[in-house]
Amino acid sequence: MTKHVKEKAVRTTCPYCGVGCGIVASVDDAGEVTVCGDEEHPSNYGRLCSKGSALAETLDLDDRLLEPEIDGMQVEWASALDHVAGVFKKTIEKHGPDSVAFYVSGQLLTEDYYVANKLMKGFIGSANIDTNSRLCMASSVAGHMRAFGSDTVPGTFEDLEQANLIVLTGSNLAWCHPVLYQRIVAAKTKRPEMRIVVIDPRRTVTCDSAYLHLPLKPDTDVAIYLGLLHALQGSSVIDETYISDHTQGFAAALKRASEFDLVTTAELTGLDKADLQKFYHWVAETEKTVTVYSQGVNQSTTGTDKVNAIINTHLATGRIGRPGMGPFSVTGQPNAMGGREVGGLANQLAAHMKIENPEHRDLVQSFWRSPTIPKKPGLKAVDLFKAMSMGEIKAVWVIATNPVDSLPNASEVENALCSCPFVVVSDIVRTTDTTRHANVLLPATGWGEKDGTVTNSERRISRQRRFLRAPGNTRSDWWMITEVAHRMGWAEHFDYPDAATIFREHASMSAANNDGSRDFDIGAYSDISPEQYDAISPFQWPAARSRSPEGSDKRFFADGQFFTENGRATFVAVEHQRPENGAGLTLNTGRVRDHWHTMTRTGKSSRLSAHLAEPFVEINKSDAEQIGILDAELASVESVCGRVIIRTLITERQQEGSAFIPFHWTDQFTAKGRVNSLITSDIDPISGQPGFKSTPVQISPFGAKWYGFAVSQNRFRKPGADYWSSAKIDVGWRTELGGLSVPGDWTEFAETLFEQSYDAEKWVSYFDAAHGIYRFAIIDGKRLIGALFLDRRPVAVSRAWVSAQLGESVVDFDVLSGRANAGQPDPGAVVCACFGVGTNQILSSIRNDNCRTVTDVGKRVRAGTNCGSCIPEIQTLLGENILNG
Ligand code: SF4
Repeated sequence: MTKHVKEKAVRTTCPYCGVGCGIVASVDDAGEVTVCGDEEHPSNYGRLCSKGSALAETLDLDDRLLEPEIDGMQVEWASALDHVAGVFKKTIEKHGPDSVAFYVSGQLLTEDYYVANKLMKGFIGSANIDTNSRLCMASSVAGHMRAFGSDTVPGTFEDLEQANLIVLTGSNLAWCHPVLYQRIVAAKTKRPEMRIVVIDPRRTVTCDSAYLHLPLKPDTDVAIYLGLLHALQGSSVIDETYISDHTQGFAAALKRASEFDLVTTAELTGLDKADLQKFYHWVAETEKTVTVYSQGVNQSTTGTDKVNAIINTHLATGRIGRPGMGPFSVTGQPNAMGGREVGGLANQLAAHMKIENPEHRDLVQSFWRSPTIPKKPGLKAVDLFKAMSMGEIKAVWVIATNPVDSLPNASEVENALCSCPFVVVSDIVRTTDTTRHANVLLPATGWGEKDGTVTNSERRISRQRRFLRAPGNTRSDWWMITEVAHRMGWAEHFDYPDAATIFREHASMSAANNDGSRDFDIGAYSDISPEQYDAISPFQWPAARSRSPEGSDKRFFADGQFFTENGRATFVAVEHQRPENGAGLTLNTGRVRDHWHTMTRTGKSSRLSAHLAEPFVEINKSDAEQIGILDAELASVESVCGRVIIRTLITERQQEGSAFIPFHWTDQFTAKGRVNSLITSDIDPISGQPGFKSTPVQISPFGAKWYGFAVSQNRFRKPGADYWSSAKIDVGWRTELGGLSVPGDWTEFAETLFEQSYDAEKWVSYFDAAHGIYRFAIIDGKRLIGALFLDRRPVAVSRAWVSAQLGESVVDFDVLSGRANAGQPDPGAVVCACFGVGTNQILSSIRNDNCRTVTDVGKRVRAGTNCGSCIPEIQTLLGENILNG
């Protein structure tokens, strides 16, 4: 493994989620990186979750893309850039500007995003630049635009701490925004009267801190909020003065809500009437209410209506623009907000300006001194790849994202890239499901190697700072984009010596002809020096020229003024529509606690891979019985688009009639687990965001005739099984296996798998042919270098224990037993990734050491004492075992 070369320790920002935690990163003399939470950063005050804490483990250079390549051959940068610019130029000359596209990412820094948008919209003259943030929060953008006339997130994280009621709608905050969740839990500990309600079809770990969980039927959120508006109608909670002074459209919205009495709403949503009434009552009596919403709301074919249904209730009660209250969209990606600020979506212009507005177009064009500006929005993500399939997009540049795994109908996206004549991919990773389709690969710098800014969910702009030298021939994304712009003939417009210069231009544009007419204004940073840029402390926008560079204390909408033409907020008369599902189960998708996106980074960490090492489909017991499948067996999950093979997880958390599969696993980690190959391309008609959370699927037993589990020092190149799924462990890999037909010779199978011929000196084995049980261990000297367990049933060995034996001195038949003998500790499945504490250790602390609180467990076994991401799971174990025992 190659190590980075030492540079220095710096304050930077986590590259994962929209909480945007501050990090202090240092590099020691040996080149080892350590990270810890930045106690001075106002997003996290020193906290980090499991993913942030493990960042140092994801920085190795294994499978890094280090050199530019054309058609798989290493080339000089100049050749690669000439080629990209040349093909884009020729394509535009021949087929027009709309024949090319950029597909970019919420992982980009604002400076990268800014120049990509400028090149496409201002110089190429097309709006065909869209971002994977389309998949994450486009419905929130569209909902904000309809209600406020601007894409403004009015709240701050402090509002969540000050609220008396927090309604988490479609948000598994405990796993998806862990540090924000921990801030809420800490506030609730100080003020136990604070209530939390979770509205989610699944009983997630977030529900463990909630007073009330409303397990609604999928996609019935609009009905809940129409019901809420109906329930509030006529009560003193409706703020008539606010409505008449600051809003429009209330009567029509109310009319739409008129049919949503308690009985109807309970029926539509599948909720218990008393629970629903309790929720409505709590909202009515709690002025300081914040509604947090996330992907459960956005990733829906009715996502924009869901957002407006929520905002309507805040406008009707005047609970917006004041501390401790308001609608609050939390973003998934680290720089989804920065992308919105620069106009990274196909339907936006830069600096929160509107593509349909001729004044805005003039302003942007003259500011950029650009030859052109598109008059209409470009293709949104799903449509962009459809157009590619139809041959309309002839050259695409995919930047910092993995659409073959992350877009819906993922196999069609793969076909689209295959059919596109020219595909450029810039990435930090050499082997992804997307890079394999690239004509040109451009090696990008990654986290820790690049400089720029990101904006978190509460509009806080923070610096990502470089503390490692760029490895190989990697370059920042903004550099590649501007170099291509130079070669396309626009050198003087893309003359940026550094990221600071780009940021200054971005800040300056936000202030151009603004005077408060647009929400996004960071004009205070228009003239900063490179040194000041380097020293920027996290600040919230707006930060207009007239205000201090530390940001503003302005609270959006405090004065009841909005960014619509008449300054009034708009109630949108939303309708409840629920897509018909027909037979089968409704599939929901989402994150797991310790993985990020398509695992290109978190998949490198054994700690992060230990919590959930394999993809799974979670279903309810009664559905499993109907299907005829047992826990831990392999299932086939099929939709009209595709099929995956996946392990079953049978729980009571999952509603009957529904299923859940995490979206992280790709062809790099499993044989057939790309869940987005199941998702249809149906989109919200307003935002263009796909509905990832309610796909009709059929589940059936896969019919595996054998199951296997292996640990190995090297990753298996060809597992040779119908099903496999691999995860990193401390000194190698663990792999689950399964097959439809039983190999004739298991010894031969084992030899092929490990790529080692059977050598009785090294191999020990145990066969019980009558029961279909075969076990092999490869022991070099006394050290275990591989083990394989095979069975007709799902293999029942302790994964944690066997994985821990790899590379260790072992006793032959102990290993073949697959579990710890008396006197040997078996930690069980990992709960606490930071300290590698397993379920068995936590259960022992509860049952044998009388631990009664999370603090007790932490003192006894350390679990939950670092990042805190596992605290909800410790609480669950405490709840189940104290109650039961
Ligand atoms: Fe990173 Fe975790 Fe903070 Fe999100 S909550 S920014 S993933 S440390």
